[in-house]
Amino acid sequence: MSTSPFNEVPTISGGLIQISPKDELIRQRLEDERRRLEKEAGLEKRQTQQYLKPVENPFTKSQRDRTTILFGGLTWKHEKLIHGALESLGYKCEAMPVPNKKAFQLGKEYGNNGQCNPTYFTVGNLVEYVQSLEEKGMSKQEIIDRYVFFTAGACGPCRFGMYEAEYRLALRNSGFDGFRVLLFQQSGGLNQAEAEAGLEMNLDFFLGILNAMNIGDIINDVAYQIRPYEVNPGETDRVLGECMDMLHEVLRQKQPWTLEGKLASLLGKTGFAGTAEYVGKFLNQLYGDDYTAALNVVRDRFNAIPVDRTRVKPLVKVTGEFWAQTTEGDGNFNMFKFLEKEGAQVLVEPIGTWIMYMIHQAKQQTKDERGLDLIQQGVSKWNLAKVFGSRLTTQQKLAKLSAAEVIFKREYHRLITALGGIAHHLTDQYELQRLGHPFYNSRAGGGEGHLEVAKNIYYSNKDLCHMVLSLKPFGCMPSTQSDGAQSAVVSTYKDMIFIPVETSGEGDVNAHSRVQMALGEAKVRAKNEMKRVLDEAGVTLDDLKEFVADHPEMQQPMYKYGHRKGVVGVAANFALHAAERMKAERRETVAVA
Ligand code: SF4
Repeated sequence: MSTSPFNEVPTISGGLIQISPKDELIRQRLEDERRRLEKEAGLEKRQTQQYLKPVENPFTKSQRDRTTILFGGLTWKHEKLIHGALESLGYKCEAMPVPNKKAFQLGKEYGNNGQCNPTYFTVGNLVEYVQSLEEKGMSKQEIIDRYVFFTAGACGPCRFGMYEAEYRLALRNSGFDGFRVLLFQQSGGLNQAEAEAGLEMNLDFFLGILNAMNIGDIINDVAYQIRPYEVNPGETDRVLGECMDMLHEVLRQKQPWTLEGKLASLLGKTGFAGTAEYVGKFLNQLYGDDYTAALNVVRDRFNAIPVDRTRVKPLVKVTGEFWAQTTEGDGNFNMFKFLEKEGAQVLVEPIGTWIMYMIHQAKQQTKDERGLDLIQQGVSKWNLAKVFGSRLTTQQKLAKLSAAEVIFKREYHRLITALGGIAHHLTDQYELQRLGHPFYNSRAGGGEGHLEVAKNIYYSNKDLCHMVLSLKPFGCMPSTQSDGAQSAVVSTYKDMIFIPVETSGEGDVNAHSRVQMALGEAKVRAKNEMKRVLDEAGVTLDDLKEFVADHPEMQQPMYKYGHRKGVVGVAANFALHAAERMKAERRETVAVA
C-alpha cells in the first residue's frame, strides 16, 4: 500500500518541527497555484526596485562645436529668436518644426499610455525629428553623438514632471537609446551652471533666452492685432517674416557684456571682478538699447501696413493649458488660423504671464513657509537670535523675488513701448489671484493653476474680449479641475461667453464646429455693440469710413484710439474715438468760419 503524503505528520526533533519532503512538495504546489491564480487575476506580485535615474551621456564643452542643440514647443517666432540668442553664445542649434499629427501618433506609439496630449505631441515630435535625420542618411549613432535635446523640466505636480522620463522612454523605444536630453528646471533660477558643461546655464544664457521670449511675445501679440484688419491680404505675414529675420540677426550678433580693459585688470586684483561683471551685465540689460532700437525699426515697418479698423470683429481671448494655448499647429487644431479665417481677432497669451505666475507662486510659497524651519528644528520663540535670523532670510528671499517681478515687468514693458506701445501689458498677478482664488485655490499648483479661471473672469469682466476660448488638452489633470470650477464661474458671471475645448490628436471638425457656434454668439455681440456705439455717437459707418480715408494716420496700426469702459471691440472703440475727432474738427471749422 502506498503511503499518501497526507498520512505523514510533521515530527518534532530537538524542539523544532521537522517538515517532511512531502509537506514541502505540497507547500511548493500550493505556492505555484497561488501564483498562477494571482497572475490570472492580474495581482501578480512584482519585485520592486528603487528607481534610479539613468546615467546620461554627458554633453561637454569640448563637444560644443560638433553638437547641435534641438529645442521647440513654443511659436516659430519665439523659437527663431531663441535660436539667435543661443547662436550668439556660441551654440549650434536648431528649432524643431511645430508638432503635427504624425508626431502625436509617434508619441503614442513609443511613449507610455495615459499621458496628456502635449506629452504625446512633443515627445513624438522629437522622435519624428530624429527619424527624419536618419532618413536623410545619418546613422543612429551619429545622431546620438551629434545632437542633444534641450527642454524645460519640473517636478510636478502635473504630468509635466514626467516629460523628461517620457522623452527618454520614447527615444529608447524608437531605437535612439542614449540620446541626450538636457533640462533646465523652470524653478531653478540662475544657478544651474555646471563646470565645463556643454550648455552653460549662466546669467548670459538666461538673459538671452528671456529677451528672446519677451520680444517673441510682443511681436506675436502685435501681429495678431494687425492681421485681421490689414487692407492687403498677406501683408502682415510678409512684414512679420522680414522683421523676424532682422531680429534674429540682432540677437545673434548681440554679445554678452563682459568686463574688459584696465577696469577688468584692476578689479581682478581686488577679487571683485566676478561681482562687477555680474552687476555690469544687469546694467547693460536694464539700460542697453540693442533690442529697443531694433524694435523701433520693426514698429515703423509694421506701421506702414494699411489697416481698416472699421471692420467689426469679435475679440476672442485664448486661454487654457500652457502648450495648448501657445502652439500654432495640430496640437490645438490650428485654432488661431481657424478663428481668424472665421472673422475673429485673436488675443494671444504671452509666455511672460507664465513667468510672472511662477515668480508670484514662489513668493506665495515663501510667505506660507515663514517660520517652518524654526518649528522643524524645535527652536523656542524666545530664541530671538534664531527667530530673527529666520525672519531675515525670508525677507531677503521675498525681496529678491519682488525685485525679479519689478525688473521683469520693466523690461517687458520697455520692449512694448519700443514696438509702438500697442501690445498688451502683463496682467497683474495679484489681481488674477484675487479674481481666481474664490473659485480655484491659488495654492493648488500644476498646469496653469488658478490662472485659467482667473483669466476668464479678468478678460470678460474688464471688457477686453467678447468670448474666452479655453484650450484644454485631453488627459490634462489641472485643466480638468479648472473645468469643474469654470461651471461655477459661468453661473456667477452670466454674461460671459466661455467655451472650453478639449484638444486631442483627432476631432478637429467637432472642435471647430463647437467654436463656430460660440463664435456666432460673439459676432452678434460685436455687431450689436458697434450699432449701439454708432447710434450713441450719432455717426454712420459710411461717415466713419470717409473720415478715416481723409486721415491716413488713422489707417496705421500704431495709431492710438483708447479703450472705453463697457466697449470691447476694436471697431467700436475706434468708432467712438473717430466720432470725437469728427466733432472736434467740425467745431474748429465752425469757429474758424
Ligand atoms: S498642465 Fe496638463 S497638459 Fe500640461 S503637462 Fe500638465 S497635465 Fe499635461
